[in-house]
Amino acid sequence: MKHLILFGPPGSGKGTQAKQLEEKFGMIHISTGDLFRNEIGNNTPLGIEAKSFMNKGQLVPDSVTIGMLKNKVEMHPDVKGFIFDGFPRTIQQAEALDAFLKEREESISGLISLKVDDEEIVVRLLERGKTSGRADDSNEEVIRNRIKVYGEQTSPVYDYYDKKGKSQEILGVGTIDEIFNKLGDAVEKL
Ligand code: ADP
Repeated sequence: MKHLILFGPPGSGKGTQAKQLEEKFGMIHISTGDLFRNEIGNNTPLGIEAKSFMNKGQLVPDSVTIGMLKNKVEMHPDVKGFIFDGFPRTIQQAEALDAFLKEREESISGLISLKVDDEEIVVRLLERGKTSGRADDSNEEVIRNRIKVYGEQTSPVYDYYDKKGKSQEILGVGTIDEIFNKLGDAVEKL
């Protein structure tokens, strides 16, 4: 069983690459952002709570996020592995994920981070906002807040797995295929 954390700032291309990795390796892609947007679309209490944080570019509280993630994992008992996209985003989430996998006698195989600089992210997300319909993509202030939250709360997760010898970084700039080739090679070696 291979479990991958696909890491990197908002707009670094995690979702795009995860879809292709899912096909190539037969793994299951779990995006917490997509799960939240699905809850919002269905107007569930969880969605209503999440929306107030997401629209400001803040993180949804760990207590909500971790439970939702575990439920999703448990829906897939027979998988080759998961690609976690947008999770863990805090040290507390990383610790919860490790403890949860340990109970199943499993663990994270590796974390791969896509490196993209801040100004490129702002350009990409504003562009995505023109068609994505995502409120958090159409406002530069919200985008800059997401980048700030990433730096303060999420980037320590890279170091957390780096201390376990599990983190690596790949340049997230270039064509989708170029990035996918590098990523695919790295996943194969995990
Ligand atoms: P992006 O990677 O472009 O920021 P996502 O779809 O991953 O987009 O996330 C959108 C928003 O959903 C985040 O800004 C945050 O509010 C919320 N979110 C997603 N994943 C998490 C998480 N693991 N913990 C807390 N909030 C999350």
